[in-house]
Amino acid sequence: MEDAGPKYKRVLLKLSGEALAGERGFGIDTSAVFGIAGKIQEAQSLGIEIALVVGGGNIIRGATASMEGADQATADYMGMLGTIINALALQQALEKLGVVTRLQSAIAVREVSEPFIRRRAIRHLEKGRIVILAAGTGNPFFSTDTAAVLRALEIGADALFKATKVDGVYDKDPLKSSDARKYQYLSYDDAIERRLAVMDQTAFTMCREHQLPIVVFALNEEHSIQRALSGESIGTTVGGQET
Ligand code: UDP
Repeated sequence: MEDAGPKYKRVLLKLSGEALAGERGFGIDTSAVFGIAGKIQEAQSLGIEIALVVGGGNIIRGATASMEGADQATADYMGMLGTIINALALQQALEKLGVVTRLQSAIAVREVSEPFIRRRAIRHLEKGRIVILAAGTGNPFFSTDTAAVLRALEIGADALFKATKVDGVYDKDPLKSSDARKYQYLSYDDAIERRLAVMDQTAFTMCREHQLPIVVFALNEEHSIQRALSGESIGTTVGGQET
């Protein structure tokens, strides 16, 4: 039988800032960063083009700081700058493993990053480089989930992979209820009807409008990124084709 080849040609992988904090829960844990870089390196062997969007929740979240009295726009800019710190941490780890990367930022930091230029990002991907997209959308009042959807659409990704602490979308919080049931597939409408928070509303609405499938999976499982990108059903797929 003829090999159908990889299910995806180009994907966008969203990593939360928390993942870089490891067990600490805040800041950057270098060994956690190397662990993630190793998983990305492993996934690259599939020959799929990979763009990364990294969050900043391990450094600062604008909404939390604003609840504590900070000016939200400023706190959001701080959050976006935090994502650049995370992106640099990931970049150096990937490059130490021999993975060729390019960092592009939505906020100009020309000493350490290229500006985000859509066509250039696509060119890097075509050349087999991993493109790390930092500073979210470059605008306050958005999240890095929204940035991930926006960039996925811009670069023409086949799907958005969201690596989280939980191995998919459940009908209730699996950390609180032992009888929580995991969904393997959900349509966008199912997710809305059942009030399942896959990602924030802005990000989710954009996915639905543009029919961009979202795959939610647990980062911490063995070979998680490689398995998810290869099409193995280790998490929950929202939208796209049910398989
Ligand atoms: N942020 C923003 N605009 C963006 C992306 C991010 O203002 O386009 C800010 C916002 O304050 C957010 C913070 O950066 O809380 C860190 O991003 P996020 O909370 O999405 O990170 P994650 O939860 O993925 O670690």
